[in-house]
Amino acid sequence: MKINKNYLNLEASYLFSTIANKVKAYSEANPGKHIIKLGIGDVTLPLCKDVVIAMERAVLEMGVQDTFRGYGPEQGYDFLKTPIKEYYSKHNVSLDIDEIFISDGAKSDLGNILDLFDTDNTVLVQDPVYPVYVDTNIMAGRKIKYLNSNAENGFLPLPTENDKADIIYLCSPNNPTGAVYNKEQLKQWVDFALENNSIILFDAAYECFISDETLPRSIFEIEGAKKCAIEFCSFSKTAGFTGTRCGYTVVPKDLVYEDTMINKLWLRRQTTKFNGVPYIVQKGAAAIFTENGQKEIMENINYYKENAKIITDALDKLGIWYTGGTNSPYIWLKCPNGMKSWEFFDYLLNNVQIVGTPGSGFGENGEGYFRLTSFGSRENTIEAMDRLLKHSLANV
Ligand code: PLP
Repeated sequence: MKINKNYLNLEASYLFSTIANKVKAYSEANPGKHIIKLGIGDVTLPLCKDVVIAMERAVLEMGVQDTFRGYGPEQGYDFLKTPIKEYYSKHNVSLDIDEIFISDGAKSDLGNILDLFDTDNTVLVQDPVYPVYVDTNIMAGRKIKYLNSNAENGFLPLPTENDKADIIYLCSPNNPTGAVYNKEQLKQWVDFALENNSIILFDAAYECFISDETLPRSIFEIEGAKKCAIEFCSFSKTAGFTGTRCGYTVVPKDLVYEDTMINKLWLRRQTTKFNGVPYIVQKGAAAIFTENGQKEIMENINYYKENAKIITDALDKLGIWYTGGTNSPYIWLKCPNGMKSWEFFDYLLNNVQIVGTPGSGFGENGEGYFRLTSFGSRENTIEAMDRLLKHSLANV
């Protein structure tokens, strides 16, 4: 028996454990100090009422002979796929119902999709990057090319001849930088993928944070994208499903490589290896798409967006450079006075008891940057920014 040795090439991720250890050490040494955590990528508001009611009803159905459900369709129930299709049509994207696959979240599908592609394919990711794109490809032994995402290109790099690759990851709104591609920029990526016979894996996990109507929420708003892209989406941040688990992946039927429809391969993969998302959870997710459900989730999204505004207003007052925060829950800021990411982490923890995420944890280009998130409580966000404003960062 031989193991998959590619796993030995994975770099251990110490980012969140190091943060946790530093916070623990500080709070033990300074009992009673109120530490505010603005580093987390998890939501904090509970599920909205209609989602809970729909799931309660579904639980009761499962206990009654006539409405009990066993194995469901692996690709998801139509009662959830249909409102997703309608949601897309509101953004002028027309999808067939069998182009939508319900998943237990974007992370799983971003990893699982790689089953369909040869391990010889080259991969292009941006640096800084959501680490899942990198690690899932290292596990399969693929070669990874990095594209510099930095202040010069506004953390929205565009492709050049040097960036040719078979598999291209794009994440917009971006984690960690909060930057969002506009339609013209995404068009350049789509054209580049079409010219080079590449596939774009488009991560739209944060699309619900886009309020600027001119910005694309889906890559399929771009002409030609159905011939070169797969889109991954999630109810995690849209509706607080990080613990409930549900999302979806759109695999267009026009996506054909080596005379093979990727949609068919994905269906085959899912029906073989995936059991589908629980009926109860899909019922909860479908409740998001009712008129009232939409209203309720928007209240939560707006709560986080207001938090983001409180953070960016404070950064503006302090004259700190940042991206994100407007159409994204992430605020990516330049550490003041040339500090390195971990130095700034320690500085904030020790002086104002605020915890964020050092940008260097997302790649080399993240050095000197820092990620704050808007997923904290209103009270904590206000308190954290008050502390920052009162504390003179000029003395750093
Ligand atoms: N994609 C990005 C960019 C993320 O930041 C996250 C979670 O933080 C995910 C995907 C995973 O989402 P899910 O909870 O649906 O697996």
